[in-house]
Parts: sequence; C-alpha cells; structure tokens
Amino acid sequence: MELTRRGALTGALATTVAGAIGLTPRWAHAKIELSGTSVEVLSDGHLTLPGDFIFGPMPEAELTPVLQPFGLTPDQPLTPECNLTLLRKDDMVVLFDAGSGASFQDSAGKIMDALSAADLAPEDVTHVVFTHAHPDHLWGVLDDFDEPLFYEAKHLIGKAEWAYWMDPATVDTIGAERAAFAVGAKRRLETMADAMQFFEDGEEILPGVAAHMTPGHTPGHMSFEIRSGSESVMVLGDAIGNHHVAFARPDWPSGSDQDQPLAAATRNKLMERLASEQMRFVGFHLPGGIGRAERDGSSYRFVAHEG
Ligand SMILES: [Zn+2]
Repeated sequence: MELTRRGALTGALATTVAGAIGLTPRWAHAKIELSGTSVEVLSDGHLTLPGDFIFGPMPEAELTPVLQPFGLTPDQPLTPECNLTLLRKDDMVVLFDAGSGASFQDSAGKIMDALSAADLAPEDVTHVVFTHAHPDHLWGVLDDFDEPLFYEAKHLIGKAEWAYWMDPATVDTIGAERAAFAVGAKRRLETMADAMQFFEDGEEILPGVAAHMTPGHTPGHMSFEIRSGSESVMVLGDAIGNHHVAFARPDWPSGSDQDQPLAAATRNKLMERLASEQMRFVGFHLPGGIGRAERDGSSYRFVAHEG
C-alpha cells in the first residue's frame, strides 16, 4: 500500500477511528524516580495508522496468531500512543522529542496540555533532545506561528540524523510515501539550525545521559541511556516501535522502519540488553510509555510499568 496514505494518516479517518474507539489522551502519567533524577512520560496524544503501515512486510499466516491476544487483525487500524520523555535533574528540564505539533494528525500534538499538567511552560524546558526527525517526534518543535516553541532550550540531534534530513537528495531517495516527511523535517531543522547542537554515538550529551546509535527506523536514530548511580532507564524512541509484534518477533521486518533489516538487527541487540539487564525503558509508541522486556522462550514480552 502506498502512502497516498498521507491522506489516511492525516485525514478524516484518524479522527473518526479515534472517536469510535473512544480514546482519551492521558497527560503526565507514569514516572520513575532515580536518585536525584526523575523520568516522566508526557503524552502528546496518539496517531492513527493503517495496520499495514507496520504489519505490511510481515508473514501474514504467522502474524495473525501473534496479534490475536491483542484482539487485532492485520488489516485493522492502529492507534499508537505518543509518549514523550521528560527528565528533571538539578536545574535541567530535558524533553526527549517535541511531538507532532498542529499539522500532522488531529489526535496528536497535545504537548502543551501535558506540560501544563506537569506545571511546566515551554520556556521552562532547558534542552530538547531528538531521537529522530519523523513528524511525530520533530514537527512540534515549532509553534502555530512557525516560531521555536521551546525558545529558551538548547536543541540536540545526532550528527547522522541531521545530515540525512538536511541532504537535499533525501526527498528524492526516501520514497514517495515519505516524501512529505523529508520536506517537513528539512524545513523545521533549517528553522532551528542556530539553536541546534550535534552529538555522536557513545557521547555523554548531558550529565548522566549517554547517546546510543540505534539505526534502521531512520538512518541516524538515537536512543539515550539515563544513569543515576547503579540505576538506569533507556529512552528508546522508535527503536522498539510497537508492543504487538516487536517483542514477540523482534527479527520480523516492520513497515514503519526505513531500513527494515538494519532496524531488526538493532531491535534484537536492544532486546537482548534490556532483558538481560532488566533495564526499564520509555518507548515512544508503547502503551503507557514505560516498561521492561522479559524473555519468553526464544523471544520477549513487554511488561508495562505499574505505578
Ligand atoms: Zn514515531
């Protein structure tokens, strides 16, 4: 299915489906307290995606029983949550990703409500750190007047991710279904260029926050390990992008990833580490945001955070 799908992604379908299912956004919900550091989830609302946007490349006969426990069939629309991560430590108020803003899907772009529920204004945010530059993670960086929303903040993005979306050739090589993503990313990154700082794989980008290159979903996708003493939390972005299939079959290709084999290799490596270290994580599109991965035979299971 082609993403003339932009119509489906952004159009009336999104509103209708969300309305029919009765989804209500959850503001400022789950939270993890480490010593001297808090990690909270802020909801930016949710998206509505055609099922095959994710499930398209998967083997259908094997997929059906994997989806069954979730009451899903491969052709049903999905309504993934959008969960931003907020880190508070000393004087730092760090937002991981900026959400969708006003011009992607009506059901997303709710960060202002989530911030006020957390008693914060955009100018209180000291750093905005990007996992990658897809619309639901980047487009909220500008306000309704195309001005920087977090105007007091330093903005940080991985060098490779920046280079990919700033490359004028990307709009032609990314494929027709994501061409609008390329145009939208370049315009916003150009607007933010003066506020932007760059980092590479393995760098400690802020005290207690290390960047890990987790490519495949996008070429320069980054995840972030937040450490305080012996405790840690991984901000995954979309390196593990859904709870229906990614844990049960991390090696399957997902239609939402730009380089599907590379994304699967990244996902396998991450799962292995998260499960063996029992590290908590925040996944942008995982239900409630926070959870753990548990081994389940030769695959894994998502365990949602309680409390
Ligand atoms: Zn996403």
